[in-house]
Amino acid sequence: AVNEEEDDEEDLVPRAPIVTVMGHVDHGKTSLLDYIRKTNVIAGEAGGITQHIGAYNVTLESGRHITFLDTPGHEAFTAMRARGAQVTDIAIIIIAADDDIMPQTKEAINHAMAAGVPIVFAINKVDKPAANPDKIKEGLAAMNFLVEDWGGKYQSQDISAKKGIGVEELLEKVLLEAEMLDLKANPNRKATGSIIESSLDKGRGYVATVLVSNGTLHVGDIVLAGTNYGRVKAMFNERNQRVKEIGPAQAATILGLNGAPTAGDTFHVMDTEQEAREITNKREQLQREQGLRTQKI
Ligand code: GDP
Repeated sequence: AVNEEEDDEEDLVPRAPIVTVMGHVDHGKTSLLDYIRKTNVIAGEAGGITQHIGAYNVTLESGRHITFLDTPGHEAFTAMRARGAQVTDIAIIIIAADDDIMPQTKEAINHAMAAGVPIVFAINKVDKPAANPDKIKEGLAAMNFLVEDWGGKYQSQDISAKKGIGVEELLEKVLLEAEMLDLKANPNRKATGSIIESSLDKGRGYVATVLVSNGTLHVGDIVLAGTNYGRVKAMFNERNQRVKEIGPAQAATILGLNGAPTAGDTFHVMDTEQEAREITNKREQLQREQGLRTQKI
């Protein structure tokens, strides 16, 4: 591993929680993320998030921040975990109140539990006449997830992602959960983090969305991710604004890599391009060797 040294306690400052929404298809994940994105509660910035870059940061009226991972499906969560990147601090499990606890709901719960990520339940579509949140809570209780208003330890919030009912309360509960985690980072060190998405853009070349977990990433830094590297030429946030730097729990698309790293790859900042090249060469060689080995089996 590269520059993974521990931070001194006095260098650490609070950072925003990084939150993933997971649930069964059609239970409202997209609607919830869209609602939060469009109504970003900070005054004057409503609807300001115009770009789908795979992660975005919102500011609540209380002035506190939450970073949402906004990737299609919870495959990204699984892929990242499989690659050893624990990017999510808290999981919102969304369940439609006019449906049942479905296989993918259970899968999402299992993923979060296996990763040791605290869960907040969002019981969605309560605006629908057929909605029965109690039935969902009963189902959760039967799985040993007793929600708070039933005397249990799991936070849950009835919401309508479509109408925005209960969403602010949900986010407050997420922040409450985050407080208990005491999340901190050191903005004054070279950045490390994860690749959220990457692609080849016709006009701009390779584009990657990075989420910083620690440190600060600057334009001009040499980023190494998987078997790719490059000097950051430009960074854009979820408002499509050019930014010069991003700190812990912030995401941006970066230009300048020599390829498209895999979602879930961790990234590090290197001192020189030569160093980055040497490491990617080694990694490529390892991959080739492993490929040969698996072919033989
Ligand atoms: P996803 O597959 O989990 O991302 O689900 P979507 O967000 O795409 O929602 C699936 C369908 O449910 C869409 O037709 C949404 O408009 C609808 N939907 C989502 N949330 C609500 C809600 O709170 N109330 C109602 N009535 N419909 C909703």
